[in-house]
Amino acid sequence: MSSTDSKAPNVEIKYTQIFINNEWHKATNGKTFAVINPSTGEEICQVEEGTRVDVDKAVAAARKAFDIDSPWRKFEPVVRGNLMRKFASFLRRDVDYLSRLETLNNGKSVEDSKGDIFLLPIVWTIIIDAGWVDKMVGETIPGAHDQLIYTLHEPIGVCGQIIPWNYPILMMAWKLGPALACGNVIILKPAEQTPLTALYCASLFKEAGFPLGVLNIIPGDGPECGNAIAVHEDIDKIAFTGSVEVGKKIQEAATKSNLKRVSLELGGKSPLIICEDADLDYAVRVAHQAIFSNAAQKCTAGSRTFVHSKIYDKFVARSVELAKNRVVGDPFDASTEQGPQINASQFEKILNYIESGKSDGAKLECGGERVGNKGYFIKPAVFSNVKDDMKIAREEIFGPVMSVLKFDSYEEVIKRANNTSFGLAASVITKDLTRGLTFAQQLQAGSVWVNDYDAVCNQAPFGGFKQSGHGRELGRYGLEGYYEVKTVVVKLI
Ligand code: NAD
Repeated sequence: MSSTDSKAPNVEIKYTQIFINNEWHKATNGKTFAVINPSTGEEICQVEEGTRVDVDKAVAAARKAFDIDSPWRKFEPVVRGNLMRKFASFLRRDVDYLSRLETLNNGKSVEDSKGDIFLLPIVWTIIIDAGWVDKMVGETIPGAHDQLIYTLHEPIGVCGQIIPWNYPILMMAWKLGPALACGNVIILKPAEQTPLTALYCASLFKEAGFPLGVLNIIPGDGPECGNAIAVHEDIDKIAFTGSVEVGKKIQEAATKSNLKRVSLELGGKSPLIICEDADLDYAVRVAHQAIFSNAAQKCTAGSRTFVHSKIYDKFVARSVELAKNRVVGDPFDASTEQGPQINASQFEKILNYIESGKSDGAKLECGGERVGNKGYFIKPAVFSNVKDDMKIAREEIFGPVMSVLKFDSYEEVIKRANNTSFGLAASVITKDLTRGLTFAQQLQAGSVWVNDYDAVCNQAPFGGFKQSGHGRELGRYGLEGYYEVKTVVVKLI
């Protein structure tokens, strides 16, 4: 089923400028860029395009906000926490507007946008992080008889945060929460495809009463605006989510400039292993959501589905049935399960991967074609007979393409699952808990789910092994990337 005739309500666009020092600014070079609705391919509005000069202005504002005498530095931790809770309460208050704005700009269904704000999210991420403000305690360390040794956790300073377009609000919340909880100040660059909700959130930040310069948001592109943040000599830390290619550039820019701290959350090619004893209906449903939710535009996408040979044919048949029935279309329609891909270049890239799957000899069981004649909708594709060395089994597609691979033995599948340069997530479906826990020990991934998928929890760390990045987000571990540890040694004379 599919429908791409848009039922999009009029969503008023309230903010399109650069946010520095709690005020709105035009870009210094007078340039703007178009923000496109992925459901139609049409322009939503023009947004100010931040440049290096705008980044410099934001850094100056942030530096001032981080002065040792500034209001922000002098706040009791609990005051920071209360401001964060107030900000979260405004996100909750405006959830209807924000989720429609997110859907207009990103193309995910309104329910998914709401889910991004409530379920894993933003509201809770920020509230949970707000609870940490007075609990990031240092240690006292035994020393000589006339020494007192202790550690302090201090904010790093000005943090650059560059986020992608696949979860615009959620990624923003994951970045802001720990940075604010630890007392840092921020220059955030949303993805050029999806700046609108971040800009609206800036207005909520101001309304919550955060001091000037604590959060600055600069819409702009990667090579100019993002790079200006990465190479900046006066930015102390950079946190990035996006492609491996850009992640490497960021790391290099940090090394070549001021050795700013770097945390990276990059891509994945995550294995989902379905054992022969799995409940087949359950496994099929889990695998379906593992790849197709969020139009498969997610770093955790279960993009290599390994299925035991004894249940392989049945698994493929049921997965095809489910994929054929997935409702693709207008994200404002309540029945829609899958909206458009984000833009023309991702759309083309995914269609090329589907062609490569066919020409490499995998069997396209269903889908893989465009839906409608405007916007960037793709019918969910299921490939069987996929081999490990095919491009669709090796590279991150970031699109609705399920690759089903066959395995015979558990020793073999562990090796194949780990044979990738990525290591973000992995999952195993089995009734045998010992087997499940053995897989959990042996799979090389930052998150392993047993009998579940995408079980990302606000209070538990999330991040990658290998080229999926370094550093962790969420929970206590997520805070570690946002403070310096200072050792104080006192001689008791
Ligand atoms: P990207 O990595 O180019 O963009 C992510 C962010 O980085 C954006 O804000 C962008 O403006 C910024 N950026 C780009 N070039 C930069 C540079 N030189 N310096 C600093 N910042 C820069 O991702 P994309 O091109 O939008 O998507 C391409 C592929 O990346 C996707 O197909 C997917 O495989 C992957 N991706 C991964 C994630 C994730 O969650 N890990 C998210 C988006 C895209």
